[in-house]
Amino acid sequence: MKIFKGLAVASAMMAGTAGLAQEQFITIGTGGQTGVYFVVGQSICRLVNRGTADHNLKCTAPSTGGSIANINAIKAGDMDMGVAQSDWQFHGYNGTSKFEDDGAFENMRAVFSVHGEPFTVIARADAGIATFDDLKGKRVNVGNPGSGQLATMEVVLDAKGWSMDDFALASELKPAEQAAALGDNKVDAIIYTVGHPNGSIQEAVSTVDAVMVPVTGAEIDALIADNPFYAAAKIPGGMYEGSPEDTATFGVKATFVTSSDVDDEVVYQVVKAVFDNFDRFKRLHPAFENLTEEEMISGGLSAPLHDGAVRYYKERGWM
Ligand code: GLU
Repeated sequence: MKIFKGLAVASAMMAGTAGLAQEQFITIGTGGQTGVYFVVGQSICRLVNRGTADHNLKCTAPSTGGSIANINAIKAGDMDMGVAQSDWQFHGYNGTSKFEDDGAFENMRAVFSVHGEPFTVIARADAGIATFDDLKGKRVNVGNPGSGQLATMEVVLDAKGWSMDDFALASELKPAEQAAALGDNKVDAIIYTVGHPNGSIQEAVSTVDAVMVPVTGAEIDALIADNPFYAAAKIPGGMYEGSPEDTATFGVKATFVTSSDVDDEVVYQVVKAVFDNFDRFKRLHPAFENLTEEEMISGGLSAPLHDGAVRYYKERGWM
C-alpha cells in the first residue's frame, strides 16, 4: 500500500506549493477495535483527512492485531505507519527479544510517543487471585497473536521462569472478546497492555465483579531496572468499578512509528496535522488528556526520529 512519490514531492516543492502533487493513500496500523490504538489511528486520520484538499493525503486506520503485527506490516511495506509499544519499538529496531530471528529493522523510524500503557491484569473477584503469582494454575487470556500484551506477557513469564504451561488455560482471544469471556466465566483473568481509562476494561468490570491485580516483585523490579522502556506504573484507584485503591504494575508507552522508506513530506504532513490541532487531538480520548508536545517527541522513543517529523519539530522550535 506504500506509494513512493519522490518525484511528485520534488515537483510540488519546486512549484512552491505545500503537500503532494498527487493524491496518496496512507495506512496506519492500530489494534483491536475496543482499544486505544484504534482511537489513536482514527484520530490521526481524522485530522489528516480534514486537510486532504491542501496536501493530497488520504489516511485510513484499520483494526489490526496490535504492536507486533504493526511493526511487521510496516517492515513488509504493507502499512506506512503504526502504533507500537515502546518495548517492541526498541526490540524491533534492534532485532532483539521476539525480533531476534528477524534481525534489526534498521529503517524503523520513530514519529512520536503517545499515552502510557500499564501492563494490566484483571481477575474475576471469585477466582481467588490477589497477586500475579496467584495466576498459576488459572485460566488466563494472555493476549491475541500479534498483540503487544501477548509479547510482553511472554517477557514477564520468562523473567519469572514460568511458561504458558503454568496456566490451566492460556487463551488468545482478542481484546474485544476477552471482556465477555471474563464475564461468562470462560477465563479467570485477562491481560491487556493499554491506556486508561478505556471502554474495554470498563465493560469487563461492569459485567462481573472483577479486581485489578498488581504486577510487582523482584522480577518486575529487575525488568524495570534493566530496560529503559519499562517504568513503574499504576492504575489509579477509583478509575474502574471494584478497584478503589491504586494498583501497582509496570508499563510502557504507546508510540507512533514508521519507516525511512515513507516519504518525508508524508510524515511531515501527518505530524503537522496532529500538532497543528493538538488541543483537538487531546480531546479525542481521555487517555490523551495529559499529553505534552515535549514528552511526545522524546519519551519512549528508541528508533531515530523520521526526517519528516524532525522537519516539523524544528519548524516549531522544539529541537
Ligand atoms: N498495547 C496493545 C498492543 O500493542 C494495544 C492496546 C490498544 O489497542 O490500545 O497490541
